[in-house]
Amino acid sequence: MPADVDELRQSVATTARHLGRRGLVLGTAGNVSARAGDVVAVTATGLVLADATIEDVTVVGMDAVVRAGACEPTSELGLHLGIYASSEVRAVVHAHSSAAVSVSIVADELPPVHYAQLALGGTVPVVPFAPFGTTALADAVVAAMRSRSAVIMAHHGSVATGRDLDSALSNIELLEWLCGVYLSAAAVATPRTMTEVQLAATLDEVVRRAYGTAAPVRGD
Ligand SMILES: [Zn+2]
Repeated sequence: MPADVDELRQSVATTARHLGRRGLVLGTAGNVSARAGDVVAVTATGLVLADATIEDVTVVGMDAVVRAGACEPTSELGLHLGIYASSEVRAVVHAHSSAAVSVSIVADELPPVHYAQLALGGTVPVVPFAPFGTTALADAVVAAMRSRSAVIMAHHGSVATGRDLDSALSNIELLEWLCGVYLSAAAVATPRTMTEVQLAATLDEVVRRAYGTAAPVRGD
């Protein structure tokens, strides 16, 4: 087990508090994890995320066996471990954020409506409903998460990944903002989605700024 595992637990607790205090989850809804080596620090089941402390974060192996901590891990542990087993990401955040849930009720996907959505991999799919904590739900999310960093779960919520906890938190906040924009536009008229040409041109500009000049990649 990494020597800095308590630092990892502390970071997970801090991210969980952010989720709760920014209104992305209500009460005990949502969960957070981060991976270091072959262990994963994950929030406990029944935890009010806004009040999370290091004691509310349990460390498990990739086999789901508890290595440290006294709390039972979240019921979505299988979803978190499934994502880590199939990708190189180092953090997973799940929320019951209102705009993402709303999109899940009325659409099968969040189409690309703003260029910033490229940071999530473009179109964000809504995976079909399956009860929370089930293998069916975990399998559906893991399959949909390939090549993207955010997924919406029908009648449930959002999941985002990242290279670290800050990145995963940023991605789930971006997804929530995009869902809000989409819903606002859809209330007025059928939203226009970005074309393949527009998306490709944006990616070209990102590459040009990253490698063609000394200009920073800020996307502003
Ligand atoms: Zn949930």
